[in-house]
Amino acid sequence: MKVKLWGVRGSVPTTFAPMGIREKIKKVLSQATPKDISSEEAIERFLDSLPFSLQGTYGGNTTCLEVRTKNNDLIIIDGGTGLKHLGAEIMKEDFGKGKGIATMLFTHTHWDHIQGIPFFVPFYIKGNRFNIYSPFDDIKARIEYQQVFSHFPVNLDYMFATKEFFVLEKESEFHLNDIKIINKRMRHPGGCFGYRFEENGKSFVFTSDCEFNIDEIDRIESYAEFFSNADVVVFDAQYTFEDSVINKVEWGHSSASIAIDISLRFGVKKLILWHHDPDHSDKKMDTVLANAKAYLNMDKKRRSDLDIEIAYEGMVVQI
Ligand SMILES: [Zn+2]
Ligand SMILES: [Zn+2]
Repeated sequence: MKVKLWGVRGSVPTTFAPMGIREKIKKVLSQATPKDISSEEAIERFLDSLPFSLQGTYGGNTTCLEVRTKNNDLIIIDGGTGLKHLGAEIMKEDFGKGKGIATMLFTHTHWDHIQGIPFFVPFYIKGNRFNIYSPFDDIKARIEYQQVFSHFPVNLDYMFATKEFFVLEKESEFHLNDIKIINKRMRHPGGCFGYRFEENGKSFVFTSDCEFNIDEIDRIESYAEFFSNADVVVFDAQYTFEDSVINKVEWGHSSASIAIDISLRFGVKKLILWHHDPDHSDKKMDTVLANAKAYLNMDKKRRSDLDIEIAYEGMVVQI
């Protein structure tokens, strides 16, 4: 199984103001020595040595992931603005000829998870087929409603690919060829479902968007099977610790510290922090990751082999 992240931002797409880019350029130039820019290779080496926030950006597009099965079947999770870019990529394949087939799964239909759909070019190409799944009974109506004329000039029916909708039984599992997909209810305003994928003895868990608090041990235990020994978990860590326990309780998101607590409790191997707050700069995200690693290492009695990363656009994870 291979997973590629196309949109990692939560809530609203986040663009970068010109002054922010100028600041980055200034910082990079101030750190460079003549040796660092003496050749193309030296420049590449120098850029690789910088903090991630100065090498580029974590990205501003909202939720969209690509899962490729061992047979290269395409599963798309959610349709935030990252979907537009995924669409441009797959148009180079069968989808550009009207011969593409993909599965789509929706966690929920908050804007940041569906707003890329009107700009998803493969939906416009007759002959392409999309099988669309969600545990929400009215998933078709929700997607259609985004494209009523007062919101967008092209109705979903005028995007000529075949789109068939399937309602999943809540908290159940289903199979797509050799891959097993389990959905699990998450706490989030309006509801949300996480997905666990299992193929060839490997597992990938995607929880967007979700609120967990460590003082609710019983509720967390009910997720034991869902997270159990997952090879990779992509987990909602939109909030800082203070936001999650003081300022934004019941707002429907979690923090890196609870993501780590849950990962340690259920034997997760790799944790990827996800659904970045639109107010967090790239520099802030470097700090979120550094703080998460510090939190993991604070208690020496804890497992230290949990691998923690922070999601960025274009990140590819082989599972
Ligand atoms: Zn969201
Ligand atoms: Zn949401």
